[in-house]
Amino acid sequence: MKPKGFVRRTKQREAILQVLRGTKSHPTADWVYQEVRKEMPHVSLGTIYRNLRTLSEHGEIQELAYGSHHSRFDANSESHYHFICDSCGSVEDLDMPILHELEAKVEKLGNYEVFNHRLEFHGNCADCSEKESVQSDQH
Ligand code: ZN
Ligand code: MN
Repeated sequence: MKPKGFVRRTKQREAILQVLRGTKSHPTADWVYQEVRKEMPHVSLGTIYRNLRTLSEHGEIQELAYGSHHSRFDANSESHYHFICDSCGSVEDLDMPILHELEAKVEKLGNYEVFNHRLEFHGNCADCSEKESVQSDQH
């Protein structure tokens, strides 16, 4: 389980948290960097990466790692589900309760002790499915 606890607040970390809390887009480190740079022109991308890692290790934010793809970051560190658009790459929060019964089911499968789970739904977001249906109407 990820260690939770106090992480020292630095000016950079405060700026990163402010940027993350100001968006629902689950941005990449690079996007966070571009935003923080507007306030702190001398900050480096390496500093942003390091601080994002520290904040997520302390459970202050959530890192959504997508295999070989770039990680996305979420100011909401509580468990919640996401919808990933496979066409445009957008990541949206799903307003639905956590299915805790899944954890009990998995524990029964093999003497596991489940701490939490992550669940993602893939498909087309509303914009992309609208675009696709417009395109197929033209054919
Ligand atoms: Zn989309
Ligand atoms: Mn989220």
